[in-house]
Amino acid sequence: MKTNWLRGFGAAFMAMALVQCAPAQLPQDTEVWEPEPVAVRPGTAGGAPADAIVLLGSEGADEWRHTDGGKVEWLMKDGVLTVAAGTGNIESVRSFGDVQLHLEWRAPTRIEGESQGRGNSGVFLQKRYEVQILDSYDNRTYSNGQAASVYKQHIPLVNAMKPPGEWQSYDIIFTAPRFASDGALESPACVTVLHNGVLVQNHVELLGRTVYMGQPSYAEHPSKQPLMLQDHGNPVAGFGVGSGQASSTVGATLVRLRHCGAICGIVGDEVVAVTDIFRVHAALQIQ
Ligand code: MG
Repeated sequence: MKTNWLRGFGAAFMAMALVQCAPAQLPQDTEVWEPEPVAVRPGTAGGAPADAIVLLGSEGADEWRHTDGGKVEWLMKDGVLTVAAGTGNIESVRSFGDVQLHLEWRAPTRIEGESQGRGNSGVFLQKRYEVQILDSYDNRTYSNGQAASVYKQHIPLVNAMKPPGEWQSYDIIFTAPRFASDGALESPACVTVLHNGVLVQNHVELLGRTVYMGQPSYAEHPSKQPLMLQDHGNPVAGFGVGSGQASSTVGATLVRLRHCGAICGIVGDEVVAVTDIFRVHAALQIQ
C-alpha cells in the first residue's frame, strides 16, 4: 500500500515537472497566415458575387449551346431563356468541375399533369448528375424523384417547395468525382443542396450517373464538363443564365438562369414535363 502511494506521488511529481519544463504555449503558435483568402465582394440583393461568371443574362444565351453542338433554339427574352419544347437539352459552353451553383426557377401557375408530369426539368451537373426540378407543391410523386432530389438516388430532407408561380431557389455545392489514370473511381461526387434556403441534401455521395432505370454507376469522364438543362417536349419553358469571369486563381462561376413557360426534360430515357418559369442564378467554380 505504501509502495503504491509512493508510486502515485512520484508519477504526479513527474507530470508536474514536465508541465513546468514544457515550452510556453502562445496564441500565435496556432495562427496560420498563408494562404490568405482572396477578397471577393459578395453580391447584394440577390446579385452575384464579384468573381462570379454569369452564364445567362439579358445579353443572350451565348454561354449556351444545344447538346449536339448547334445553336440554342430556346427563346431568349428579358433575360429569360424559354425552352422551345422539343428542341432539345442545352448545355453550357464552359465546363465545370467542383462548382457552386445558385439557381432560381418557378413552376407554372397553370397546373397541368401530376406526379412526374408536372413542372419537371432538371439541372445536370457535368451533364450526368441530376438535381431534380419539379413542381412538388401538393404533388405527390416518388420521394427520390421529387424536387431537390438527387434523382433516383437521394430523397430531399424536407419538401421546401413554394406554390407554383413563386420563385424557387437552389443553392448547389457540387464536388466532382475523381478518377485515377486507369479510369477507376478514386472518389465519388458529392452534393449539398439548399432549396429556398432550407438544407435538403447534406453532402450526399452520388452513386453514379443519373439513370431512369436500373442502378447508377460511374464511368470515367473529363474532370470538367458542362452544366446541362433539360427540354423534353412539353410546352414552352425557359431558362436564363448569366456568368461573370472568375477573377481569382480560385475561380468562380456564377450562373443566372431563368426559365419561363413550360419545360420538359429528359433524364436518360425519362420523359419529363416541366411547366412555367425557371430562374437559375449562380454557380461558383471552385477549382
Ligand atoms: Mg427532371
